[in-house]
Amino acid sequence: MARLCQAILLFIVLVAQVGTTAIAAELNIYSARHYDTDLSLYEDFTQQTGIEVNLIEGGSDGLIERILAEGELSPADLLVTVDAGRLWRASEVGIFQPVSSEILTSRIPGNLRHPENLWFGLSKRARVIVYRDGEGFEVPGRYEDLANAAYQGRVCMRSSSNIYNLSLMAAMIDALGEDAAIEWARGVVNNFARPPQGNDTAQLRAVASGECGITVANTYYIGRLMSSDKPTDKETVAALKVVFPNQAGRGAHVNISGAGVVRHAPNRDEAVRFLEYLTGGKAQRVFAEGNNEYPIVGDPSGPIAELGNFAEDKVNAVVYGERQAQAVRAFDIAGWR
Ligand code: FE
Repeated sequence: MARLCQAILLFIVLVAQVGTTAIAAELNIYSARHYDTDLSLYEDFTQQTGIEVNLIEGGSDGLIERILAEGELSPADLLVTVDAGRLWRASEVGIFQPVSSEILTSRIPGNLRHPENLWFGLSKRARVIVYRDGEGFEVPGRYEDLANAAYQGRVCMRSSSNIYNLSLMAAMIDALGEDAAIEWARGVVNNFARPPQGNDTAQLRAVASGECGITVANTYYIGRLMSSDKPTDKETVAALKVVFPNQAGRGAHVNISGAGVVRHAPNRDEAVRFLEYLTGGKAQRVFAEGNNEYPIVGDPSGPIAELGNFAEDKVNAVVYGERQAQAVRAFDIAGWR
């Protein structure tokens, strides 16, 4: 009898649990962005909507592999990552589904989302020229100028396998044509002060220290140094000048942090709702500020706002992916390691 009672009780508990899981709305986010401010957005979203957020963090390529391995049974609803080149890789292996949302398409400019709405830009960064204050050379105003022989032995660059440089090169190929872009890369390589090494911050430090005179870096790396309290970071930033390139022409190269709804998302509607939430004014500010980026909607805040306004290259970010293979080849031919 006791056994039967136990069994009945267990059954009731199980039914109750299944009941609650079925009712409680949830959202599974796979994110390659690791910022505390993103966590505060998840909490705020849950408070506003009652939708529980489960977070899995990892590197972008690792998360893509995982979603592929999980296949149709993947719990992933949304993949959040940085750089359109990476979003494009994810769309190429078929892990996104198109989303039709009036809110998303009206708020996010056409060039910062996939043409079939497989992914959406949620914040943006510019890849800018940075030089050492007081170098005494003519300030380069365009990416093209970095190939100018006047800067021989003065240019430091990150490696060509880095996604930011691949996306920049893809944009150069799109603007100049493949041959001219290769020629440009050859000129830049000829100007190298040292073989490519380190991340964007390492380039900024090398310019500040005088090891190099010029580099390119994403704006959020500059924003990080600007907001740092460390004396060494303050010294670094004080030695640097920022140029938004190609202001008289096509504009500065801009890339995004973004996200797409996963093809087999078990919670598709919740995922779309979260994307829409992220394009709202308050969420935009928090999402962008979390990594010193520019919001997609509204004005910049935080230290990068001090860098001022600039004209952006309006080429669709999907081009960075479509021309990625060409970019790899161009760097290879030019000897940019
Ligand atoms: Fe970065």
